[in-house]
Amino acid sequence: MGLRVTPQREAILNFLIHHNEHATVDEIYQALHPTFPSLSVSTVYNTMKHFREIGLVKEITFGDAASRFDINVMPHHHLVCKKCGKLFDFYLPQTPAFTLPPAAAGFEVEDYHLEVKGTCLSCRNSEPK
Ligand SMILES: [Zn+2]
Ligand SMILES: [Zn+2]
Repeated sequence: MGLRVTPQREAILNFLIHHNEHATVDEIYQALHPTFPSLSVSTVYNTMKHFREIGLVKEITFGDAASRFDINVMPHHHLVCKKCGKLFDFYLPQTPAFTLPPAAAGFEVEDYHLEVKGTCLSCRNSEPK
């Protein structure tokens, strides 16, 4: 299955690259629906699934929250602002060695993702002093 370039798909990609590098399906839908009235949430969802399958985006999940689609497909981790929810990419120079507890003996680590919580600069600046 190849990637057909439609104006909607192009708009979704542009939105991810220029406006929100870690967008949920809903955020994409809300942003593009005014321009593409025929766009539906399920179209966005299916497009993101397709983008993920061909390696254009990475799906990231935080607990039970809605999946976010990351335009940065390099292995990386995230700083998460607790106030505004913005995600910032960061990289670790090397993979840390995992020390598995005895209860998890034999567990094979396939993927991991660090989520570092804090408050971003613009939220800190808008805090009452
Ligand atoms: Zn913030
Ligand atoms: Zn990211």
